[in-house]
Amino acid sequence: MEIDLSALDHNYRLVESMVGPDIRIHPSVKSAAYGLGLVEVARRFQELGADAISCGSFEDACTIREAGLTDIELVMFGGTLPGGIPALLSRDLMPTVHTMELARAVADAAKKPAKIYIKVDVGWGRLGIPAQCARERIIEIARMPNVAVEGVYTHVPFTDENGVQWAIERTSIFDEIIQNLKKDGLEIPVTQSRSSAGVLMNIPDNCNSVAPGSILYGKPALPGELFDFGRFQPVLTAIKSRIIQVSPTAADTSVIAPSRFARSVKGSTGVIPYGRRDGNRAALPDQQSYAIVNGTPAPILSVSSELCVLDLSNVANPAIGNEVIILGEAGGYNITLETLARWQGSGMNDVLLPHRGRLARKHLS
Ligand SMILES: *Cc1c(COP(=O)(O)O)cnc(C)c1O
Repeated sequence: MEIDLSALDHNYRLVESMVGPDIRIHPSVKSAAYGLGLVEVARRFQELGADAISCGSFEDACTIREAGLTDIELVMFGGTLPGGIPALLSRDLMPTVHTMELARAVADAAKKPAKIYIKVDVGWGRLGIPAQCARERIIEIARMPNVAVEGVYTHVPFTDENGVQWAIERTSIFDEIIQNLKKDGLEIPVTQSRSSAGVLMNIPDNCNSVAPGSILYGKPALPGELFDFGRFQPVLTAIKSRIIQVSPTAADTSVIAPSRFARSVKGSTGVIPYGRRDGNRAALPDQQSYAIVNGTPAPILSVSSELCVLDLSNVANPAIGNEVIILGEAGGYNITLETLARWQGSGMNDVLLPHRGRLARKHLS
């Protein structure tokens, strides 16, 4: 996997210019930075001046700390059981408090004021204290000993036109809660409601921070009709493999039969060591997927746990060691994350996340 960190810089600066200089940016590195190299990406965000980093899991947060990134604030997006609180506090991680039980666990565990973020659910229906009782509960939490409410946030993600209106309404509910807390005398240092879609559509809020993920990695968060994504750059620029075997004529198609992939092949086939274990996924039955070999599209015949078979009929002089472009540009063709998602009938994250494992990552700066 080739990962272009200068594209990450570019996207970060673009987001900065979109939200303005007074808004804090807390980039999300959920799912091990979407498989793009957790530590490299987190370090880059720190160098770019991110005010904090939003982490998906305890494991990822520990990896960042162990890599020596000790002086950046880490906000935990992932939820936890109350029993997990001492472990979070001992590693200088700011827990998300999404239940009263968690708030009490912080008060019980903290020996000195511990910074926490409180999450409010304004209608997405996932983690968070319900909006209806958020005001009272946040006041109650703020009074607990050694509990320092550093941030209050919500999540209002959407993916289409209908979602825009929904997000505007829901965000105004959140704004009202924050305003009421102010009236109650509670000043909250960090408030946050916008993720990628909210930043792109400039959903109005009175918050002082944003938490984008997708767009920083150059993954379009909305359909092209809603937002022209052209100015963002993909951070994942290539997935490459090499041919480890060429079978000159696939006269006997039983090599790949009996299976739903069975079909006759005119010329040779090739094998690459890029299987499901690496993140490869078969296309939908009604889609033909390709990889590019020597500038020519080669239909993908099968994907198994460790290997993938290509139809090399149209490839001139295929040989062991030839480079295979699974994602990227070559020969006038461009296979993007969106292309792979279309072939697989899934979302871009569904394509990306299985790649967190074995493939080597090359970070270009
Ligand atoms: C995942 C997540 C984000 C980032 O979402 P993107 O759509 O990738 O920008 C922001 N806030 C919260 C609470 C999240 O869980």
